Amino acid sequence: MVMVAFNKGHLASVRPNSRNLPSQFCLLPARFSFSCFMRIAGFTFNAFSENTYLLIDEATRQCAIVDPGCYDRAEQQALREYIAAENLQVVLLLNTHAHIDHVLGNQFVLDTYKVPYLLHEADLPVLRAVPTYAANYGFPAYSPAEPTGTLTPGEAVHIGETELEVRFAPGHAPGHVVFYHVLTHTVIGGDVLFKGSIGRTDLPGGNHATLLSSIRTQLLPLPDETVVYPGHGPATTIGEERRTNPFLQ
Ligand SMILES: [Zn+2]
Ligand SMILES: [Zn+2]
Repeated sequence: MVMVAFNKGHLASVRPNSRNLPSQFCLLPARFSFSCFMRIAGFTFNAFSENTYLLIDEATRQCAIVDPGCYDRAEQQALREYIAAENLQVVLLLNTHAHIDHVLGNQFVLDTYKVPYLLHEADLPVLRAVPTYAANYGFPAYSPAEPTGTLTPGEAVHIGETELEVRFAPGHAPGHVVFYHVLTHTVIGGDVLFKGSIGRTDLPGGNHATLLSSIRTQLLPLPDETVVYPGHGPATTIGEERRTNPFLQ
């Protein structure tokens, strides 16, 4: 399938006291050249430079927020203002996994948009451990939130007319999932596979062999042109990582 990308570029960085707009990506198969049905907007938030993504269904203007890392008021405001300026309706909060850098903005999103919040149940202990170390990591104002439902691998999540496949990819975290948009070959990958690297496995619940197995079974079989939007750093493609990633040779 031929891919066309508009406005492709690096993720904009939104750090405290800055007001950068996020970059936007619009990916569509050429045969649907008149409409752009899923767009991704990315923000980089908090001290861990975590990537927060909006998955936008262009047909309905509904969107999901994946891994909101916004912590301080400037970051929260950047997210909220973008959503308002784009006239988006937030319908879902998703976490790829529950490490602190990916869940700092969960409660803000729930308070602001009152949407369902889904996480794989194997990461519930990871989520519930966050309050025990948040202050030590420099996030004393972290406000915990409980999921309203669970993500089931193999089942789809829907954002308007957009359908995403949930793929189970443990190893970095025990309940890690990635979201795959089949029509555009796009993966929202969390901390499984990065450009030139892979997720760390020295945290509680991590396992290196499990992570490699997840990458080999859940990501590498995808087409070369599949774009992976990771939890940290720039986007990459499955083909590039299959060829050059030193952890996968
Ligand atoms: Zn992580
Ligand atoms: Zn992370």
